[in-house]
Amino acid sequence: MSNPVIETEEHRALRSSVAALGKRYGREYIARTVAEGGHADALWAEAGKLGYLGVNLPEEYGGGGGGIAELSLVLEELGAAGCPLLMLVVSPAICGTVIARFGTEEQKRTWLPGLADGTRTMAFGITEPDAGSNSHRITTTARREGGGWVLNGRKVFISGVDIADATLIVGRTEDARTGRLKPCLFIVPRDAPGFGRSPIDMELAAAEKQFELTLDEVRLPADALVGDEDAGLLQLFAGLNPERIMTAAFALGMGRYALDRALDYARTRQVWKEPIGAHQAIAHPLAQAHIELELARLMTQKAAHLYDAGDDMGAGEAANMAKYAAAEAAVHAVDQAVHTLGGNGLTREYGLASMITAARVARVAPVSREMILNFVSHQSLGLPKSY
Ligand SMILES: Cc1cc2nc3c(=O)[nH]c(=O)nc-3n(C[C@H](O)[C@H](O)[C@H](O)COP(=O)(O)OP(=O)(O)OC[C@H]3O[C@@H](n4cnc5c(N)ncnc54)[C@H](O)[C@@H]3O)c2cc1C
Repeated sequence: MSNPVIETEEHRALRSSVAALGKRYGREYIARTVAEGGHADALWAEAGKLGYLGVNLPEEYGGGGGGIAELSLVLEELGAAGCPLLMLVVSPAICGTVIARFGTEEQKRTWLPGLADGTRTMAFGITEPDAGSNSHRITTTARREGGGWVLNGRKVFISGVDIADATLIVGRTEDARTGRLKPCLFIVPRDAPGFGRSPIDMELAAAEKQFELTLDEVRLPADALVGDEDAGLLQLFAGLNPERIMTAAFALGMGRYALDRALDYARTRQVWKEPIGAHQAIAHPLAQAHIELELARLMTQKAAHLYDAGDDMGAGEAANMAKYAAAEAAVHAVDQAVHTLGGNGLTREYGLASMITAARVARVAPVSREMILNFVSHQSLGLPKSY
């Protein structure tokens, strides 16, 4: 990681200052927050004050003027310290990017400074109960009425809606109800009448909760629409590629954290004449996990670089591959870490077993492993489609 071609001096400095912040909070902070049923507000606020949350947003709206390369590094380092902030994936990365690229001047002034300093948060809702991996099937519909919009529909698994000031909802206009998705994006304030939410009981030890949402005749002003209602998928993908790159960073951080715990243990735990890390059955899988994480990080850096350079198409393939590689690397690293700790891998004191569930999130969301393999089969390799 010392090669300046791959990562600049500024990047390394950012990594080490974020890592120092993460170290002050650590896994214990998240564990305590989860046990109390609270939110990671203190860490979020401090990261916001230090400029980390908005590092990718334009300087003229209070951001750091960097890109997804910088923001993904913030998330990876917090995760490696044991305290990832999932809302970084949605608030500044998806919502901030979409508003910065396609929002009106008014929307930018209203939202970006708050998203950048963390005083405001925005969730993102695309998944629906009957659509899932097939976004073309979403039925949340926007109808024009009296100069504004009326939204009806349902969403599921939407993270952080309780703490977010608003949710960026992906819908379709009424005249485009069927056929290929022509998505449009609406800012729906948390307390808009008709916007209901109920928490989903997840087996996840995370500070961020998931919600099922109902939109029942939710009336919004004309300027709730972000971007052009005809620009469709282009605008949506401006947000979805950062989401994939950020999920890769989330997975990388988690994998590194788990691997570090396993290494600490393997160096000191002794039940024969050498520490268990001397046994190759323990050492090799950990070495393999390290290699997989490093490779996944390289692809994440490539994807972020292409995205920040404005190559949306190239970034699409790389972001998918990075998300795939990082999620698989994290799942393997966490599994091996739990195994390395023997019985202690399953105790609450060591806190690793709950990460098995958390690592699986990166495998299924925001786009599943199989849908990425589909993408690569069709888009990269030119193979025919089965669905
Ligand atoms: C913790 C968590 C947080 C989330 N946060 C958000 C959020 O903030 N906002 C949001 O919009 N969504 C969110 N999601 C939703 C997430 O993006 C979806 O779960 C994901 O897109 C998969 O959709 P699904 O769960 O409906 O699975 P399904 O689409 O039902 O898929 C089920 C299984 O079938 C496989 N499958 C489906 N189609 C195919 C095919 N053609 N070929 C091969 N295999 C296939 C999938 O790979 C998967 O293994 C979150 C999910 C989780 C778990």
